Amino acid sequence: MEDSHNPSTITADVHVNPTNATTTFTKQTVPDSEPDVQILTSSGRRIPAHASILGSVSPVLENIIDRPRKHRSSGKLIPILGVPCDAVSSFVGFLYSSRCTEEHMEKYGIHLLALSHVYLVPQLKQRCTKALGERLTIENVVDVLQLARLCDAPDLYLKCMKLVTSRFKAVEQTEGWKFLQDHDPSLELQILQFMDEDESRRKRRRRHREEQSLYMQLSEAMECLEHICTEGCTSVGPYDVEPSKKKVPCSKFSTCQGLQLLIKHFAVCKKRVNGGCLRCKRMWQLLRLHSSICDQPDSCKVPLCR
Ligand SMILES: [Zn+2]
Ligand SMILES: [Zn+2]
Ligand SMILES: [Zn+2]
Repeated sequence: MEDSHNPSTITADVHVNPTNATTTFTKQTVPDSEPDVQILTSSGRRIPAHASILGSVSPVLENIIDRPRKHRSSGKLIPILGVPCDAVSSFVGFLYSSRCTEEHMEKYGIHLLALSHVYLVPQLKQRCTKALGERLTIENVVDVLQLARLCDAPDLYLKCMKLVTSRFKAVEQTEGWKFLQDHDPSLELQILQFMDEDESRRKRRRRHREEQSLYMQLSEAMECLEHICTEGCTSVGPYDVEPSKKKVPCSKFSTCQGLQLLIKHFAVCKKRVNGGCLRCKRMWQLLRLHSSICDQPDSCKVPLCR
């Protein structure tokens, strides 16, 4: 029991706070030991590195390093090909320092995203996702979209989709889009579907807004109806309120005035007995609606209220 708390049993490597490996790693200095692996880049350059550092940040590299070798004699060589040599050294730099300059991000952002995905380095992936999202343009959006899908970066993917959707006319003209059409019809289909769904989302929102505004109109009409029948407004009022007393337009006058004209019409329209005209029908609707929602039917002065 006591032994497990004895500092002497803890090795030098783990006396850093294990709950925050990323932060402590940035403070970790390069080990005193000589580099024991070499990273081979596509240009043939070899970048010396420490297996312990690479393995502690990337589980994929750790696996590669631990894999038994056929030819013991050759020094450990890890090929990282398919991306520019400088992107690889920027990647290795990140493994050592958890840092990447803006300049490198600008130049090698897409390569670094790919490397962070392949070698499972989530901190770098997050940095790249954010940086690439900030640098999206009409010209590069299709390329970044493809990469985001390949590298399973949903935030970046969505951001690209939104830009493609909002600027489709321009994106359609880019080389990236033409290439996509020729080489990745499934992604093209996905984009078109996303745009279609986006359109329906827009329509749903519009319909909702229209419903909201209809609801607002009706509820304002209800308020005005009560106000006209209780206090009276400019030209219509209850019998017991002298119309001359109320001449100032109320705060909802545009609705109120229309309603007053409707009430006046309703009072004199000859057609109303036989189903009435459209305006009378409207008046009936409003009276019925009021009656169905009125919370003071006993003292209410609106005609035909329960
Ligand atoms: Zn009024
Ligand atoms: Zn009428
Ligand atoms: Zn009422």
